[in-house]
Amino acid sequence: MSKHRVTATVSKILNFSCVDGPGNRLVIFLQGCNYQCKNCHNPHTIGVCNHCGDCVAPCPANALSMEDGKVKWDASLCTHCDLCLSVCPNQSNPKTQVMTLDDILALVRKQHFFLSGITVSGGEATLQLPFIVALFEAVKADAELQHLSCMVDSNGSLSQTGWEKLLPVLDGAMIDLKAWQEETHQWLTGRSHHRVMQSISLLAEHDKLEEVRLLHIPGITDYVGEIDAVSTYLHTLPARTTIRLNAFQHHGVTGEALAWDVCSKEEITDFATQLEQRGLTVTYREPLNV
Ligand code: SF4
Ligand code: SF4
Repeated sequence: MSKHRVTATVSKILNFSCVDGPGNRLVIFLQGCNYQCKNCHNPHTIGVCNHCGDCVAPCPANALSMEDGKVKWDASLCTHCDLCLSVCPNQSNPKTQVMTLDDILALVRKQHFFLSGITVSGGEATLQLPFIVALFEAVKADAELQHLSCMVDSNGSLSQTGWEKLLPVLDGAMIDLKAWQEETHQWLTGRSHHRVMQSISLLAEHDKLEEVRLLHIPGITDYVGEIDAVSTYLHTLPARTTIRLNAFQHHGVTGEALAWDVCSKEEITDFATQLEQRGLTVTYREPLNV
């Protein structure tokens, strides 16, 4: 297959974002994730649509229909009420689009003058690895687009073999370390954190570790109780790596995590202060109105 016919299942594209890597970035969110985080704030990006059709009848705007056994979304009729997301039994989304590499490159070309780079996010972006590699290769090979940095936002579950395919065309990765201890990580995400630790080491070794993110959920995540061990570990990361602390909020969250306390301004500040007192530089944003 020609490289330009490689496709991706895309849940959303943000033309401009300043929170998904350095500078002003076009962000492509890919559908599908291999984690089942209890605190996921985009649970409808986890599943891949099996075209069961359950969301078609409930759509109040008749924006959904079945065509050749596949659900079809009419963007011009959609009111973005998101009822389809709440009825989907598969944590999926009928509004995803299958886009070719050329479709995405056309979007990038349209606004490349205003961009510092592109970020591929998810779901878990690296589940669609061939597309990411093809996209970044195409950007690097294009004289008009070469100035754009190519980054990926990941849960760190990609194997070493997978990273080795991506490293030659990757400028940086933002990795979520979702919990410190293995048992907590397993409980929170349904997956082991060993692969995440390996990914962080590999990316650091190749100077491609742009950011490590720690989500503070008071009473749930275990960084504060293990602050000395966490600090010692964070000190081993390269100087270029931003350590970003995020404060858990309820936006988009479903299920048991809705009963968890959100992280207050004081709690995120206290977490940051404890790391700073141990000689680390961290970045965080205080939550609004908490
Ligand atoms: S989005 Fe969900 S409910 Fe709709 S067709 Fe796909 S799997 Fe079924
Ligand atoms: S968000 Fe979903 S349910 Fe709501 S109008 Fe659009 S397609 Fe229909």
